[in-house]
Amino acid sequence: MEEAFLRIDTHTHSCGVSKCSKVTPEQIIVEKRKLGYDGVILTNHCQAWYYPPEQHGAYIEAVIAEYKKGKAYADTLGFAFWLGLEVTLNVPAYADYLLFGVTEGFLRRTPCLYQLTQKELYALCKENGVTLIQAHPLRHEGVGDTDYLDGIEINCTPADFEKREEIVRIANNTGLVVTCGTDYHFPERDIRAGMLVPKTVKNSVDFGKYLLEMPQTNVFIYDEVIKIPAGRNAKKLEK
Ligand SMILES: [Zn+2]
Ligand SMILES: [Zn+2]
Repeated sequence: MEEAFLRIDTHTHSCGVSKCSKVTPEQIIVEKRKLGYDGVILTNHCQAWYYPPEQHGAYIEAVIAEYKKGKAYADTLGFAFWLGLEVTLNVPAYADYLLFGVTEGFLRRTPCLYQLTQKELYALCKENGVTLIQAHPLRHEGVGDTDYLDGIEINCTPADFEKREEIVRIANNTGLVVTCGTDYHFPERDIRAGMLVPKTVKNSVDFGKYLLEMPQTNVFIYDEVIKIPAGRNAKKLEK
């Protein structure tokens, strides 16, 4: 029987936009296919040291062009390639946030995102059907304000990966959704982990909604699958 899930790395960076990355969108696709993934979400950086606020519009065009380059190649292979973004905020605390469920139209309408507060960013996401997940929340100041957050990430860079059980504990206590991604920047990062996403999820917008509606998410780490309850969603479904 054909598998009903896609293996997705929800957190990847490409070098045409994220200067810290050493891989092109095409290389991400080649390397991830070798590792057995069915797709990735491109979450390039949006942060203050990349560009001044008045260049936000031009920067977003570069983000979209980079995504389209990868998407065109991915489409020839039947590989899922979805648009996302990673925004770094300083208020109320320094923290990184992944935006899932974004469209090109949404990104083009945004003000300079890194200048927003967490509350403002969350409000903008909710007005536009975008899901807000804090990336590697235990790396800096800890989990942000959970009133303005949909979920937190199990991040697979070595130091963050060690904290995965704590992430699950925090999610269980707060009802936040858990995502998992490798924060891919380099071809030698060959950890095989991410999320098992139903094949009915066809694009970035579907994925954003999926995270908000499912009573649990399925994270895979090599051959192990961990089902993590998403408490707030379970409550929503009960109503
Ligand atoms: Zn980076
Ligand atoms: Zn990242």
